[in-house]
Amino acid sequence: MKDTYTHKGKRKQLVETLKAKGIENKAVLEAINAIPRHLFMDSGFIEHAYVDKAFPIAADQTISQPYTVARQTELLEVSKGDKVLEIGTGSGYQTAVLLEMGITVFSIERQNELFKKTKRFLPKLGYRPKRLIFGDGYKGLPEEAPYDGIVVTAGAPYVPKPLMAQLKIGGKLVIPVGEENQIMTVFTRTSEKEFEKEEHGAFRFVPLLEDKN
Ligand code: SAH
Repeated sequence: MKDTYTHKGKRKQLVETLKAKGIENKAVLEAINAIPRHLFMDSGFIEHAYVDKAFPIAADQTISQPYTVARQTELLEVSKGDKVLEIGTGSGYQTAVLLEMGITVFSIERQNELFKKTKRFLPKLGYRPKRLIFGDGYKGLPEEAPYDGIVVTAGAPYVPKPLMAQLKIGGKLVIPVGEENQIMTVFTRTSEKEFEKEEHGAFRFVPLLEDKN
C-alpha cells in the first residue's frame, strides 16, 4: 500500500484539473489532494487512478469520476462536524473524501461483496466511518436521522421519500435523478414540509437498485 511522490504529483495535477472544471470548495480539493485514490482500485495504475474518469471496481460497479465526487460533495455544503449519510459506499472513495473533511459519515451499500471489502479496507488507511451498513439505500438509515446532508452515488429512477424525511431543516439531499442519464438534483429542506429544488447538469451513474444483493 504505497503512496509515492509520483502518486502525490499526479494528485496535484488532478486537483488542478478539478479547479479548472469549476470546483471551488477548498476542503474538497484538499481532501482529494490527500487521498491515495489508486489504493481504492484493484489495479492501482496511476494512469487510471489520477485521470478524471470513473473506473470499474468489484461486482460490476464503478468508483465515481473524481469530478463527480468533488461536485456532489461541494453541493452538499457540509463542513467539519456535520453528519452525512451516503447511499452507495462502493469503493469507499467518496466516504474517504467526507471523512478527510472531518464529517461524521454513515454509508449504505447493497452489494455484500463490496460492502465486506470496503469495510475491511477503509480502516487500513485510517478512515473510520461512524457506521457502514449492508442494506437498501432507498430506505435510508432512519435510526441515525436527521442528517445535515445525504448524498446518493448511484442513479435514482425517482427520489426516495424516506431520504427527504431524514434531512435536518437546512439539510441537503444531493441525488442524480434519471434512468439512462441523470440530472444532478439538490433538495434543500427549508421547513418541516417544504423543500427547494435545484438542478445542476447531466451525469451518468450506475443504477440505484432496490433491495440487497
Ligand atoms: N461512492 C462510490 C460510488 C460507487 S457506484 C465510490 O466513491 O466509489 C454506486 C454504488 O451504489 C455501487 O457500489 C452500488 O452497489 C451501490 N448501490 C446501488 N443501489 C444501491 C442501494 N439501493 N442501496 C445502497 N447502495 C446501492
